[in-house]
Amino acid sequence: MKNIKYIFIIFTSLLTNFYSQTKSSELVPIKDLIPNIIIELKYATTDNFFEQKLYASNECYVLKELADKLIFIQDSLNKLKFFNGKSFPKGIGLKIWDGYRPRSVQYTMFEIFPDPTFVADPKSGSTHNRGGAVDLTLVDLNNGEEFNMPTGFDDFSDAAAHDYPSDLLTYEQFQNREFIKKIMTEVGGLDLYSAEWWHYQLKNNKDFPLLDFQVK
Ligand SMILES: [Zn+2]
Repeated sequence: MKNIKYIFIIFTSLLTNFYSQTKSSELVPIKDLIPNIIIELKYATTDNFFEQKLYASNECYVLKELADKLIFIQDSLNKLKFFNGKSFPKGIGLKIWDGYRPRSVQYTMFEIFPDPTFVADPKSGSTHNRGGAVDLTLVDLNNGEEFNMPTGFDDFSDAAAHDYPSDLLTYEQFQNREFIKKIMTEVGGLDLYSAEWWHYQLKNNKDFPLLDFQVK
């Protein structure tokens, strides 16, 4: 009986060791891994809710684990040539508005808009500060045109929520919101955020550290 207990302890410690070795908190540049993804970091411009340029560059980094899921999602979307009565000769693709966000930027945002429904309190940190979240929409890869969604990015209103009533949206907006949710959660295995249709994150976010460096 004692031996079995020891074997069990050795086995579980080997497993823990293996797990910690394979789980990487490394951030990777998405565009290098997915060349046809569109990156438009709103916080690298002044065209955002805070009306300030908060990032030094338009380069988007995320955790390797999240990047792997985005590769799979993009591949699946690229193959879709027909959706909701429209044809997409080059398929559908992702457009990224935000990924990794330095924690110092989180402090700036929260100072300007201290509403934790839309801007996470920097004391506990945002999933974006871990590189484990993305804000995104869908585009037609033929012309780069964005899908018609219930709101634009960082529209901090009730209409941005996943449970905003469908009868207050156009049929197309409702279909598109449901579609992006299905793709990101069911194909990608990511968690949604109920208040923002554009935000998706790793389920195990808390396993990764809060970071604070600017991408140059
Ligand atoms: Zn977000």
